Amino acid sequence: MKQEHKQKRAREIVGVVVDFANLKMIESTQQVEGLFSKFASGRFKVIPPDEKHIQAYKQDQAKLRERLTLIAENPDAAKKNLSKDLKKFINEKVHASVYFEGGTIQYDYTVDGVEAALALGLAFVLDRNYKVGHLKQCANPDCGKFLPNLDIRARPRNTCNARCKAKADAYRKKLARQ
Ligand SMILES: [Zn+2]
Repeated sequence: MKQEHKQKRAREIVGVVVDFANLKMIESTQQVEGLFSKFASGRFKVIPPDEKHIQAYKQDQAKLRERLTLIAENPDAAKKNLSKDLKKFINEKVHASVYFEGGTIQYDYTVDGVEAALALGLAFVLDRNYKVGHLKQCANPDCGKFLPNLDIRARPRNTCNARCKAKADAYRKKLARQ
C-alpha cells in the first residue's frame, strides 16, 4: 500500500469511527455494521441483531466517546493513557500482512469487524504519520459532537455549524459573567 493511499484509507476509517461516536441513537446492530462494513474486503463480522447485542454496541460507543473526549482535550496525555490498551486491542483485532513489493517492505491490514475499525481509527487519530488533523469536540455543551479534521491543511472547526456556534458563544458569555 502506498503512503498516500495509507493516509487516505486511515482518514476514511477515522471519519466512520467518529460518525459512529456521533450517532444519536443506536437502533440496530445492522445500523452500526453498515457504517463499518464498507472497509471490509472479505468477510465482515456481524453479531446477532438482538437487544443484548445492541447494548454491546452502545457500550462500545460510550467507551469510544470517552476515549475521543480524552484525545480532543489533550492528545499527548491521551496517547500516553491509551497506548497500552490500543497496543493490545490492535494486536487482538487487526489482521495484517507484510510483503515485499517494488523494492520495499510494505504492509496491509484487513478491517473485518467493528472492533478492528475502532482500534485502527483511534490509533490513526493519535499517530501523526497518518496526517489526520486534531480532533475537536463541538464547543456547544448541549451538542458534544466530535469534529474530525480530515484535511490536515484545514483549520480545525470548534463547532458543527452556525447554530452550535451561537450557543457556544452564549455559553462562554454566561461563564464569563459568573
Ligand atoms: Zn455542535
